[in-house]
Amino acid sequence: MLIIMKLNSSKADIEKVRDRISSKKCVPHEIPGANKLGIGITGPTTLLNEQEFLCLESVEEVIRVTKPYKLVSREMKQENTIINLDQACIGGEELAIIAGPCSIESKQQLFDIAGELKEMGIKFLRAGAFKPRSSPYSFQGLKEKGLLYLSEIKRELGLKIVTEAKDTKTLPLIAEIADIIQIGARNMQNFSLLEEAGQLSNAILLKRGMAATIEDLLMSAEYILSQGNFNVILCERGIRTFETMTRNTLDLNAVPMIKKNSHLPIIVDPSHAIGIWDKVTPMAMAAIACGSDGLMVEVHNHPDQALSDGSQSLTPKNFRKLLDKIGQLAPIVDRKINYYANVS
Ligand code: PEP
Ligand code: MN
Repeated sequence: MLIIMKLNSSKADIEKVRDRISSKKCVPHEIPGANKLGIGITGPTTLLNEQEFLCLESVEEVIRVTKPYKLVSREMKQENTIINLDQACIGGEELAIIAGPCSIESKQQLFDIAGELKEMGIKFLRAGAFKPRSSPYSFQGLKEKGLLYLSEIKRELGLKIVTEAKDTKTLPLIAEIADIIQIGARNMQNFSLLEEAGQLSNAILLKRGMAATIEDLLMSAEYILSQGNFNVILCERGIRTFETMTRNTLDLNAVPMIKKNSHLPIIVDPSHAIGIWDKVTPMAMAAIACGSDGLMVEVHNHPDQALSDGSQSLTPKNFRKLLDKIGQLAPIVDRKINYYANVS
């Protein structure tokens, strides 16, 4: 349920509504960023009666939210959520481009690639320190040492850091460094991790699980918002289908469907979706064409030597070509891209 308050409502008016909600064992959530002041209600809302709110002078409207996901729904908030990480936004007119290696492999490797990306105008660096790998024998990441390198990059280059938290144990450590904490496909329904991420103020990049429906993804996002963290970015990264020629099947239907049903930003990761480096650019173009708010792309200076996901990683040179194409496409979909094309 959503209560729309009149614009001139006082703090006391809002408190009165909140108290009435809490007295029925429901939870009030002030919806940030809305044009009108909205108070979303979660919990056993069937016990609430619209009339008991409508009779209050400060209440303009009471809306029943019909979807199973509440706080993430467009019914709850009509305008798009823009996540603002000072000078770097996700969900606004400028496309958010997140780029970097799958894993941090050494200090040198990270500084080399981060420096090149920064020169291109990239604001968000992705790089995994704690890697969730299908095989226990594969490279698991540099862990704490990787986080240390990321904090040095952040300090020296001012890039926004996107890195994955794969369990609740290391989440607080990652939260100290990451501007955006990635929750990966394998953890999309790790509800303890989602709840703890919901108690942080860092932005959360929630990737779609490989066998998750769009609704499952939105329900997982709801876990985070329900704990008070509204800074959630969704990510379509391909799902498992019967197709074996590509790593996953990029479900671009998810982009317009999420835009219709949720106010949260949605970006696309074409690298994990297709898994083949020279097919990443066409899928990135398709993602932007269908309304994605940005991209997450794996870029590595030496893909042939990468310790994870080398076969889907672009070299900086090829990534620059991708940016060039996205730059041409962006105005057609009323978007902009921050990209310094003339850097060699
Ligand atoms: C990654 O981004 O490197 C990753 C492991 O992604 P996903 O969770 O989508 O597989
Ligand atoms: Mn990867």
